[in-house]
Amino acid sequence: MEARSPGSSSARRSSASGAGSRASDRRSRRRVCRSRPDVGLERADVAVVGGGPAGATAAALLARAGLDVVCFERERFPRFHVGESLLPASTPLFDRVGVGPRLAAAGFLRKYGAAFFDEGESREVILNFRAGPTWADHAYNVPRAEFDRLLLDHAVKEGARVLEGAEVRDVRIQADGVRLGVAVDGEGPRPVEARFLVDASGRDALLASRLGRREPMPGLGRAALFAHYAGGHRWEGRMEGHIRVYLFRDGWFWWIPFAGDVTSVGCVLHRRAVRRGPSLETLFEDAVAACPAVARCLAGARRVAGVWSAANFSYRAEPVIADRFVALGDAVTFVDPIFSTGVYVAMQSAELAVPAIVEGFRRGEFRAARFDDYRRRVAVGTGLFFEFIDRYYDPAFLDIFFAPAPPAALKDAVTTVFAGGGFLERPLWLRLRLAAVRLGVRCVRWRRRWAGLPVDSRLRW
Ligand SMILES: Cc1cc2nc3c(=O)[nH]c(=O)nc-3n(C[C@H](O)[C@H](O)[C@H](O)COP(=O)(O)OP(=O)(O)OC[C@H]3O[C@@H](n4cnc5c(N)ncnc54)[C@H](O)[C@@H]3O)c2cc1C
Repeated sequence: MEARSPGSSSARRSSASGAGSRASDRRSRRRVCRSRPDVGLERADVAVVGGGPAGATAAALLARAGLDVVCFERERFPRFHVGESLLPASTPLFDRVGVGPRLAAAGFLRKYGAAFFDEGESREVILNFRAGPTWADHAYNVPRAEFDRLLLDHAVKEGARVLEGAEVRDVRIQADGVRLGVAVDGEGPRPVEARFLVDASGRDALLASRLGRREPMPGLGRAALFAHYAGGHRWEGRMEGHIRVYLFRDGWFWWIPFAGDVTSVGCVLHRRAVRRGPSLETLFEDAVAACPAVARCLAGARRVAGVWSAANFSYRAEPVIADRFVALGDAVTFVDPIFSTGVYVAMQSAELAVPAIVEGFRRGEFRAARFDDYRRRVAVGTGLFFEFIDRYYDPAFLDIFFAPAPPAALKDAVTTVFAGGGFLERPLWLRLRLAAVRLGVRCVRWRRRWAGLPVDSRLRW
């Protein structure tokens, strides 16, 4: 075991002999959190930076395992965040994290599928999710202000201490522990010591930005504009919650209906379509005008808040793991929102990392090698998403995807990947179908070349 000071949180807890006393320990910490969350902040077993889906999930699961967890969140919740359409693979994950019943009762609109439209070619495809071994037949569309609040509250219920309005400004990972400088409500940084650091700071990728690398991906993620509208077009029945994706000349639009009357509408612009100068409102209105299908769906609708933007959001960050450290979710990488993978990857990466961290505490040893399997599983899981994100800009894949009667096996493989199946496990039937998709794309690409049609990624057009 590592040498520890007698006043440390773990040393205090080690006097607790059984599960009952650990639970009462957690309850008393929870009371501290509700009344004066900054009390006793100076030390923790695990410091989690960021209270988004990745950080809240990690904090909840680590606290449930009996560790003393403190989670620092820069903002005060509820706060707006982009990323509102979830994947069916999240649904069983919510149950494992312990928020399934609360989410089901929260009244979020269920999403049973996705509809894709290609404006230029007048073609469309509608996919309906089917439950599989690690995913459900539905997900939810969630205003993130409410969803993230619910997840972070759950972390507190599990016994984590959560401090909002607390920005981690300085990080040092040393042989004997982690030292942070945390600015609470804009005041000068206060020192915090922990034995382990979880970076769930999202696109800020705190540790990589300060001590490593955060590399943009060429061609992708130049700019996105988004807004909420009341009174937009609605489908009825099971299709009401389908996410709609509209491809158009300058990029693509998402259409994410929430429960009630509000819909999230956003566009991701190709590099060549990004302009500087006009206001966000003007740029967004111009993009809507360039995509008649979206303009029609918004006829008579009213924007209920400002237009938000995100830029340069495709990158890979390093390191993902180190001694006493793991990064989760967007702090590892983010590529493109086309298939709504972000929140699932954030929460799933947290669930995958937690057992290795807990085992590290059991053994008192936190070498990077302990987290290598975590890094590998996240790389394999996200690798499949990235392959399909890339394909979505590939004209040969789109020919298959939008074919009026695609082979059932191909449609099944694509629907499975879009549901988040294949991240944790890839059974033989799925691997065979994915191989068929890859072969099909190669054949169509060859046919397009032969016919003199473009084969380059739409990102390069
Ligand atoms: C245009 C666009 C559209 C998207 N659409 C979707 C979608 O439909 N579905 C989907 O699943 N995903 C979508 N995403 C991705 C999704 O937003 C993210 O993948 C997801 O929020 C990642 O969760 P996270 O917990 O890793 O990070 P975040 O949700 O970003 O949470 C990180 C938290 O860390 C806090 N923080 C940062 N730095 C510090 C610090 N130094 N100290 C303390 N706190 C800090 C932040 O305030 C934030 O609350 C989209 C992304 C973009 C760019």
